[in-house]
Amino acid sequence: MKDTNEMEIIFDSRSENEGFARVAVAAFMTQLNPTVEEVADVKTAVSEAVTNAIIHGYENKIHKVSIRCRIRKKELIVEVTDRGKGIENIEQAMTPLYTSKPELERSGMGFAFMEAFMDTVKVESEPEKGTKVTMKKTIGKGREIWTTQSL
Ligand code: ATP
Ligand code: MG
Repeated sequence: MKDTNEMEIIFDSRSENEGFARVAVAAFMTQLNPTVEEVADVKTAVSEAVTNAIIHGYENKIHKVSIRCRIRKKELIVEVTDRGKGIENIEQAMTPLYTSKPELERSGMGFAFMEAFMDTVKVESEPEKGTKVTMKKTIGKGREIWTTQSL
């Protein structure tokens, strides 16, 4: 396998597309031979980021969400971008249990899940410009195959 690869998808911010987005990323990452658990982790993180773009970024208005995925050797890099309302205080937004929409019964755990399931999560955002969440995960950690040649 070549050790770099890239894909990008752009879709409407409809909640029906959240399932499509996470399956698309899951399908793309299969070339890294992930475990079932690694795929589940990435799907959860992608779901949370896409749901945030739809609910918070665009507040349920229909605009475009994009996902760019890259593979570099064993690392998967996923960027989820919206051009919505942006985040004023990123540190506060990323605090577990913080939500700006308690009335919608959000639990404020989306970023905490992304951080738990991915190796790193970076949020770049500007009010009225939009938000980009960049998540990275190395696939196959602790699962090196030993052969007599590598001894
Ligand atoms: P949950 O994800 O548990 O349903 P939540 O979405 O409120 O609740 P987080 O996903 O952790 O919790 O997000 C925290 C807060 O960050 C949100 O309440 C919102 O104010 C802000 N936020 C997150 N993503 C975006 C985004 N793409 N655009 C604008 N604001 C965002
Ligand atoms: Mg959320």
